[in-house]
Amino acid sequence: MRFSQSLIPTLREPPANAEIPNHILLLRAGLIRQLGAGLFTWLPLGVRVLQKVERVVREELTKRGAYEILMPFVQPAELWIESERWHVMGPELLRMSDRHDKEYCLSPTHEEVVTDLFRNNVSSYRQLPCNLFQINTKFRDEIRPRFGVLRSREFIMKDGYSFHLDEETFNTTYQAMYEAYAAILTRLDLDFRAVEADPGLIGDGDSHEFHVLAQMGEDALAFSPNSDYAANVERAEAIVEGTRPAPSQDLAKIATPGVSAIDSLADFLKIDIEKTVKTIVVKGMDSPVALVLRGDHELNELKAARVPNVEQPLVFATEQQIVEAVGCKSGSIGPLGLKIPVYVDRAAAILSDFCCGANSDGFHVTGVNWKRDVPCDQIVDIRKVREGDPAPDGSGPLSIVRGIEVGHIFQLGTKYSRSMQASVLDANGESVYPLMGCYGIGITRLAAAIVEQRHDETGIDWPKEASPFDLHLISLNADRSELVRNTADQIYSDCFDAGIEVLYDDRSERPGVKFADADLIGIPHRVVVGERALQEGKVEYRYRRGGSTNIEAKEVLGRLTT
Ligand code: ATP
Ligand code: MG
Repeated sequence: MRFSQSLIPTLREPPANAEIPNHILLLRAGLIRQLGAGLFTWLPLGVRVLQKVERVVREELTKRGAYEILMPFVQPAELWIESERWHVMGPELLRMSDRHDKEYCLSPTHEEVVTDLFRNNVSSYRQLPCNLFQINTKFRDEIRPRFGVLRSREFIMKDGYSFHLDEETFNTTYQAMYEAYAAILTRLDLDFRAVEADPGLIGDGDSHEFHVLAQMGEDALAFSPNSDYAANVERAEAIVEGTRPAPSQDLAKIATPGVSAIDSLADFLKIDIEKTVKTIVVKGMDSPVALVLRGDHELNELKAARVPNVEQPLVFATEQQIVEAVGCKSGSIGPLGLKIPVYVDRAAAILSDFCCGANSDGFHVTGVNWKRDVPCDQIVDIRKVREGDPAPDGSGPLSIVRGIEVGHIFQLGTKYSRSMQASVLDANGESVYPLMGCYGIGITRLAAAIVEQRHDETGIDWPKEASPFDLHLISLNADRSELVRNTADQIYSDCFDAGIEVLYDDRSERPGVKFADADLIGIPHRVVVGERALQEGKVEYRYRRGGSTNIEAKEVLGRLTT
């Protein structure tokens, strides 16, 4: 591709509306442009990156027995009504109607459509397992599109779906897809982690997310440096060590006027925050439910939503509902004498002589002890793990890193095959609902995650397999030197013949401009053709992650093909 004839609008300065490196660099290097909130155009360089990423994804999936299809982006509402998701999905699902008033939505995901395809075309166990994927546009009307293409509204996803007669064949495919995802991220030369993930509302089977490690990542990941244990913090089990000491203090009600936040309470009473508990009231099925945590611990909302009687997804009680249920405002609640169900986190349950709200505005109680003063029958795991907490597999303290979720694989069980009546006949001629698996990778998000992890102060550092080109060829002052022009043209056409993809900067820009653009764009190999080196019959070769050397023009091909 000749730079002069392409559309590569590089920018010297960071654009005003971009804050994180991948967003800034994709804009500055001329890969993307924004059209509206969460809507982006991919320019020639950007499209080439997407194609490269897609190629890696396709190869790793196809060789593991997944086959590519392409389903419509616009989907009939009927299918979503059948799967019972039409009314469950919130405003993320963009709905519309056609000229005949028939309702449709823009695809946020394709379980319904693929299940419909399956039921109309597969009828026998002999056709299983069946593993299909597509690379297609998705639309989710995200409440907060941000970080450029990392969280956009329209984006490209590889989504795959598999159908199985039994657990065993399901597990084999799940494992193969796990390996495919690991292979994809390894080929892209990324520092990544596969973690146990929250399975969501569907089933409690295996679920894994693949995260590209990055400071700005929206997810916190807990892992054990001494074992294979790794889980999204949303999912990671919190373990308690030790047992509850015997009570040693008497109950005392203390006036704490104006003190409601837990850290100001600890300050006010001059006690350790770890000797306090906080009580959070959430909506329950019949009545509100109280959740008790140690003062310094944070509620894990996904875990809390799985507590019996608690509404899913979690909804916090309003101040008015709290006053009605407990008789005081949120800052003074405690487990003592509560008339609503009380669930106590494992770490709060081993405290003794602790402090909590007195269920009376402006008062707290100290010297509280479970059993003696208040029952502690329902102990649950509802807190977020933290750095240094014990790993659930007993391998030592957990570490926490941040990551960008680029892929997610999970079990769907028979949710869709059953609700949409997609049955097949088994070997005995009986009708069964196949088990399904679901496997997603965000193509556009992955491209951005690569940039987020791999850049320096001058620009992007593309891994070989995602780079828009193999070689960035620069001619210096070519309009003044025929030798420069001819040599560069020759390298360009030799590379073309050898199947090497070249971005040829043939513009009549100053050398400094060309070098800055090359640094910004970040293609791993660079060759500079200039008058000075040519006098000795040489061109300059530079590797993005290494130094530069002068080589003979005819050696260029050799450098790139080894
Ligand atoms: P998130 O928690 O980040 O919203 P999700 O759990 O909704 O992701 P899935 O439904 O599992 O994501 O989608 C599969 C993949 O699609 C994700 O792993 C991610 O790579 C990509 N993806 C999801 N939402 C977006 C988005 N708004 N913009 C870009 N890519 C996305
Ligand atoms: Mg999402």
